[in-house]
Amino acid sequence: MKDDNAHQAHRDKLGRPLRDLRISLTDRCNFRCRYCMPREKFGPDYAFLSNDEILTIDEIVRVTGLLAKLGVEKVRLTGGEPLLRRDIADIIARITEIEGIEDIALTTNGSLLTAKRAKSLADAGLKRITISLDAMNESIFQGVNDVGFPVHRVLKAIAAAQDAGLEPVKVNMVVRRGLNESEILPMAEYFRGTGAVLRFIEYMDVGTTNGWQLQDVISAQEIFRTIDAKFPLVATEARTPGEVATRFRYADGQGEIGIIHSVSKPFCGTCNRLRLTAEGDLFTCLFAARGFPLRSRLRDGTGDDELLQILGEVWLTRSDRYSELRTKQTANLPRIEMSRIGG
Ligand code: SAM
Ligand code: SF4
Ligand code: SF4
Repeated sequence: MKDDNAHQAHRDKLGRPLRDLRISLTDRCNFRCRYCMPREKFGPDYAFLSNDEILTIDEIVRVTGLLAKLGVEKVRLTGGEPLLRRDIADIIARITEIEGIEDIALTTNGSLLTAKRAKSLADAGLKRITISLDAMNESIFQGVNDVGFPVHRVLKAIAAAQDAGLEPVKVNMVVRRGLNESEILPMAEYFRGTGAVLRFIEYMDVGTTNGWQLQDVISAQEIFRTIDAKFPLVATEARTPGEVATRFRYADGQGEIGIIHSVSKPFCGTCNRLRLTAEGDLFTCLFAARGFPLRSRLRDGTGDDELLQILGEVWLTRSDRYSELRTKQTANLPRIEMSRIGG
């Protein structure tokens, strides 16, 4: 990893360097998770992006290449459901070739991750994968994804990723009160000793369609206590600056877990991420209402030097720290939906 001095020129207004880029490859998804794309809001009439509104591979690669010059070294592909995009292996292969990009990862719901696909993604250069799973209990999981997708097929996807060498696989579990908190222990119990790293995520007020309320958040502390009471945990050092999960290992050596406490203990001070939506808007915060529209500049003949200038400005003028400022008032502000920005 580059040292922080290498990024001196590209620090935002709060002194944070640019390091991570999250690219949403599509705003579409084959799940309707209650906390992300509730069916009532994302029904048959919902206006998803059309093909020509979505960035092409060449456009994605061009933006990523320029951002690498400004300090980006880690890329995560997300969505919507990124595996709905058939050209994803090509996207990975092309991003892997960009000078300065050291790490490329993917977040997926696993529903389309066959053994063959996992291998083709790994062969293309994918280094790490995160697969989301919110419960071991069948009716709870199907209640969350709201399309009747069964647990065993996600477990099969996790195994496929492990077989393809994408280890350690991370497993994301969003915990929402009244929905799946009873699954914290069964999930911990199942994944202990499997080599997969389970990460519990506090339910966040992303977007405005999921009806978020503070009382629905199960805090990192509650999650920790629940697990620690049955399987004692020991705190572990953060591996990289800006790491969002607090890591713990099981005292009996059965692996580790992470807890992402974006609501109860925000980490804006070290937030080094930029987000690119499928339609080409650059967002400097997960909770922003508006992004910087890049697509028109990518399609109107603007040269690389000018684009680099624009991208640099977007980062230099950034002062976001939404989670640190979260109050009852912020709850009603407009925000981009999670399925568009990609988490
Ligand atoms: N469809 C893929 C998936 O589910 O893994 C990738 C996109 S999804 C938006 C990325 C991550 O955001 C998933 O792990 C999902 O569980 C998480 N997520 C979605 N809505 C959330 C919310 N309101 N609070 C916390 N995490 C959320
Ligand atoms: Fe789709 Fe992922 Fe959102 Fe679930 S969390 S609806 S799988 S984008
Ligand atoms: Fe980063 Fe915005 Fe989240 Fe703070 S609230 S950690 S600035 S994305």
